Amino acid sequence: MQNSERIEQYAVIGNPIAHSKSPFLHSAFAQQCHQSMRYGRILAPLGQFETTLREFIAQGARGANVTLPFKLDAFRLCSTLTPRAEAAGAVNTLSFENGEICGDNTDGCGLVKDIVNNAGTALKDRRILLLGAGGAARGALLPLLECGPQELVIANRSPEKAQQLAREFGSDGPIHEAGFDRLQGQFDIIINATSASISAQRPPLPDSVYRPGTLAYDMMYGEHLTPFLQHAAQQQAATRDGWGMLVEQAAESFYMWRGVRPVTTELLVREYTSAL
Ligand code: NDP
Repeated sequence: MQNSERIEQYAVIGNPIAHSKSPFLHSAFAQQCHQSMRYGRILAPLGQFETTLREFIAQGARGANVTLPFKLDAFRLCSTLTPRAEAAGAVNTLSFENGEICGDNTDGCGLVKDIVNNAGTALKDRRILLLGAGGAARGALLPLLECGPQELVIANRSPEKAQQLAREFGSDGPIHEAGFDRLQGQFDIIINATSASISAQRPPLPDSVYRPGTLAYDMMYGEHLTPFLQHAAQQQAATRDGWGMLVEQAAESFYMWRGVRPVTTELLVREYTSAL
């Protein structure tokens, strides 16, 4: 067997996919952990996720990450799911073993690791406000509740979706729903899991939810502060974007596949990352 045939294949599948930083992150992890693997990016035509995935598996692939808009399609195709993928109702990490497709969701774990380990902000016994009720919010709920917050309030533009999530996760911890105009008291951590930042908007939060030192976290990342983070900074909040979440969810996927946990420190530093 030639050397190249032993290199195990992984990829991120999405549409669009050209912007994905996952190949860069996983190549860095592989180099650091001395793993012989190749990680590419695959553009799946809309409506053809399953065909694309099965072709990749037929080529002998070992695993894949899944990104927008296919996380629900991936969930439906799995023969086994981890409890956190089941709770999230969406899959971002696939492993292929003995003809089985195993699904995991590392997004929420990545968020929690970034807040607790990298930002140094404890979640236990804290008041947390989670904004949004889409896929990212759903994936974050179980990992956040497992940290033992004092209270987790979820607010969404369409309140019925947040109410539904509060009902579904009610047995996992102290969660309840409140509309943006019904929020009471100050929060220790406010997480923006809406996609408002993508269109340069911010959720309509009252200033009264902030106290000096509140951690305002936007899952979206970019070169500049999002409108949500800009406004939070004006309220004396500490700000953090979702780059660390992206790095940590990738590290968790890598660990699930390879059994080796990469050190993320260097990749969290944006200057280092953009130089590569
Ligand atoms: P979804 O499309 O599933 O959900 C979008 C959510 O945002 C809904 O709750 C929607 O409310 C709300 N929303 C959209 N626009 C506005 C607005 N203008 N004001 C208030 N609320 C709004 O998206 P995802 O959950 O998949 O993604 C959410 C964000 O998380 C994105 O910015 C994405 O980039 C980011 N993300 C980051 C990751 C990372 O690793 N850093 C990983 C995954 C996601 P409604 O129900 O009323 O429509």
